[in-house]
Amino acid sequence: MAWKLTHDGATVHVLPGNGGIPNSHPEISPLDFPAVENFCREHGIKLIVVGPEAPLAAGVTDYFAKTDIRVFGPTRQGAVLESSKVWSKKFMRRHGVATGLSWTFRSDEMQAARAKAAELGGNLVIKYDGLAAGKGVYVCSSVDEANAALTELQDQHPEWFSFLLEEKLSGPEISIIGITDGNRIRLLAPSQDHKQLLAGDKGPNTGGMGAYCPVPFADDNVLAAIRRDIVDPTMRGLQAEPFDFKGFIYFGIMLTPQGPKLLEYNARLGDPEAQVLLPALKSSLLELIEATLDGNLAQTTVWQRNDTFVGVVLASGGYPAATFPTGFPIAGLEAEANFAPQTLIFHGATRRQPDGQLATSGGRVLTVVSRGHDLEDAVQQVYAECKKVTFEGVYYRSDIGQRPIQELTA
Ligand code: ATP
Repeated sequence: MAWKLTHDGATVHVLPGNGGIPNSHPEISPLDFPAVENFCREHGIKLIVVGPEAPLAAGVTDYFAKTDIRVFGPTRQGAVLESSKVWSKKFMRRHGVATGLSWTFRSDEMQAARAKAAELGGNLVIKYDGLAAGKGVYVCSSVDEANAALTELQDQHPEWFSFLLEEKLSGPEISIIGITDGNRIRLLAPSQDHKQLLAGDKGPNTGGMGAYCPVPFADDNVLAAIRRDIVDPTMRGLQAEPFDFKGFIYFGIMLTPQGPKLLEYNARLGDPEAQVLLPALKSSLLELIEATLDGNLAQTTVWQRNDTFVGVVLASGGYPAATFPTGFPIAGLEAEANFAPQTLIFHGATRRQPDGQLATSGGRVLTVVSRGHDLEDAVQQVYAECKKVTFEGVYYRSDIGQRPIQELTA
């Protein structure tokens, strides 16, 4: 977002930022709203664009509503669409959004939950009701797996909690992200994330190992069905609810044999989808954000099928375990001339050492993005570029964007 907004002519500061974004301010926590406000006043900042979910769920938009600084992102109540899976399922039902069956339980109703899991033959999905950074979802295929997941959920949350049992759906997944002022929505290109760590969608879930857009199988018919069954009912719902929703809205969708079904909302731009969607966005993001805040958003799509973008995440060895080594020097980035002119490299978990050397500082270190005339072309380019960046333990999936290519050539 910093890259795109800078291209759009804005002067951008990022809290906390990283080793690759100019004007990063690691000393300021985005959750310390008075400190953020002081920072904005010192730098004459008039607009805050929120990236991740935590400041939204903590009410950054509500806090600044009392000031003359505008915030692009939903209020705390709007962000509940993402932060509570039980609440968002109820919202979907209330407003006729296509989604799978589900049953809500409290942590003191484990016996009833186990009975329901047995009745479903263990074919179900269990979801903790709260933000869990992608770690609160268990996709089960047997009663034993379901029981083990319920036990783990209880062990991990000694306090009182709610959770969902969901009908297990099947089909390809697709991300649809829109910008909305609560009345109108402009949709970005359909994209696909790759959540699991290992090639072939194996291994543990991560924050996302790569993405591409647009998705070839999301043709006009598929997109029309998604509009009719998911996006439009959601918009009618947002208009009917008593809270304001201005910002990005993310629809995590499964294309089931019975039609598209919504798995979840996020109240923000997804990552790593953002790294491919924003380069694909032909319009000015700044203008879209300003139109949203002014209530002047036009109801059209903002992407074209001309180019395909693929992004591959370079991760630290050991990620996503609880701990793994970081602080390794990153080599290859300084020689910009080595990269094709259209290549983009977005920083995630990077840090500048006191001597100016760029080093790894977390799990998902960098995302390399290439643009091609089709998916195959973009995939070939991106993997040639990934080889040029090195750090100790670097790991990336070798099959980002290759699901549709494999399906087409099968
Ligand atoms: P995210 O990191 O995308 O925010 P999350 O932890 O909030 O994820 P979901 O997106 O609801 O949780 O689920 C994570 C993944 O679990 C989905 O991408 C999908 O692969 C799988 N999943 C979720 N719900 C279902 C379902 N009802 N049937 C089948 N698979 C499901």
